[in-house]
Amino acid sequence: MTQPPVDTAADTQPEPMADLLITGGTVVNETGRFPADVAVKDGLIAFIGHPSLAPRAKRVLEAKGRFILPGAIDVHTHIREPGMTQKENWTTGTRAAAAGGVTTVFDMPNTDPPTWSLEALAEKQAAAEKQAHVNYGLYGLLDERTLGNIEPLTKAGVIGFKLFLGNTTGNLPAPNDGAVLEGFEILAGLGMRCSIHAENSPMLFWRERRMREAGRDDDFAHWCARADIVALESLGRAICLSEWTGARIHIVHESCARSVPVIREAKARGVPMTVETCPQFLFLAAEELTGQQAKIARMNPPIREGAQREALLKALIDGTIDMIATDHAPHAMEEKQRDSIWDNACGFPGVETSMRLMLTLVDQGKMRLEDYVRMSSAAPARAFGLAGRKGVIQPGADADLVVVDVTKRAPILAEMLHSEKSRFTPYEGIETVGAPVATIVRGRVVMENGLVAEAAGWGRQERPVMPPAAPRNLATSTQAILRPGAMPF
Ligand SMILES: [Zn+2]
Repeated sequence: MTQPPVDTAADTQPEPMADLLITGGTVVNETGRFPADVAVKDGLIAFIGHPSLAPRAKRVLEAKGRFILPGAIDVHTHIREPGMTQKENWTTGTRAAAAGGVTTVFDMPNTDPPTWSLEALAEKQAAAEKQAHVNYGLYGLLDERTLGNIEPLTKAGVIGFKLFLGNTTGNLPAPNDGAVLEGFEILAGLGMRCSIHAENSPMLFWRERRMREAGRDDDFAHWCARADIVALESLGRAICLSEWTGARIHIVHESCARSVPVIREAKARGVPMTVETCPQFLFLAAEELTGQQAKIARMNPPIREGAQREALLKALIDGTIDMIATDHAPHAMEEKQRDSIWDNACGFPGVETSMRLMLTLVDQGKMRLEDYVRMSSAAPARAFGLAGRKGVIQPGADADLVVVDVTKRAPILAEMLHSEKSRFTPYEGIETVGAPVATIVRGRVVMENGLVAEAAGWGRQERPVMPPAAPRNLATSTQAILRPGAMPF
């Protein structure tokens, strides 16, 4: 009797090899934390579990005593290329993101040319795909001239649209309310989200002109020109138009404590809105910003008085404000050192310092790491059609991860920023506790111990998969009333 041949193929086949294994750390999602090794294969999370079950890997990253978070998604950055590369470009901007634990940046359309057509989008894509070290989403511009481009830009994969109700860098004119209404009707039909700079342009221009005529040019002049009412009026209008049309909106850089109850009530009514605030509105106080600091911190909307900070932080923690973004807005140094406050460029870099600042609030016991994961990654992924793929550490999700050391103490120093053309910060000298020590973009380590790896072109464009559209009041939409004899009843 002969033995049947033994099939040894299973024994000789090599064990599946992961690309990267992060070992010894604690995984943190918005829902909780647990100790686990994380393995990555082909850019996706392939394994989460006990070290004894972890696959072998080509590269092992030791994370003992560290936390592994979903990489931050910063939905509000200005990378400046094309057209304004004296301030920033896709290399410097995404290196700064990698240094800051940010694995995806959304780039605003107020570049030169603005991202308002398929041609302009293609120009930006060409610059980004050659240089990006982290993933990116690209916004299209919504204004009076671009209504016909909303659908083509959506099909071409923009992450959302941006509407400047208030003027800022790039001086794109705020569209009139009729165009905004029609734009929202189109967006509502497509289900796309529109990020809104909510300040009232006529008000801020009028007040600035009156103040200039009166000879005001002091450290607090800009703050006074754009007092809270300028933002509050615009927020109310944006909510009204969103509620009527069903357009999904996202309010950027919320700065006012008085907006919080307005947002809470609107959300309770079912207005399809999300809101971000930024570290500068939680850390800085207008009354403390004088001289060169006032020029560096000049931004739109302005840093408010310190008494407003607590209400914003509370709203961020309780979810009334959904997420933390940065409004990373670099400029050439010369553009921030002009004599008159009115001539100094608005904005400052932030993508690299946000995580350190927010982890400092965790260290102070003001929020949990789980809260930070929600506001920095899970909520942005949900709002912009990336949920499931990003914002969560789970098998099959993109391996966009950040390893943090919550005990790391260091001062923020402008000279160390990776935004090479824009090395100034309003946080100079502030000591932070907690920092990213490794940033992983789709399985590739793009930053380790503060050193950014050469990874130009590794970043990939992210395209949204939004929930089904839910437009409202179609019978009286701008398109509907163009039909001769159309009756809405
Ligand atoms: Zn901005």
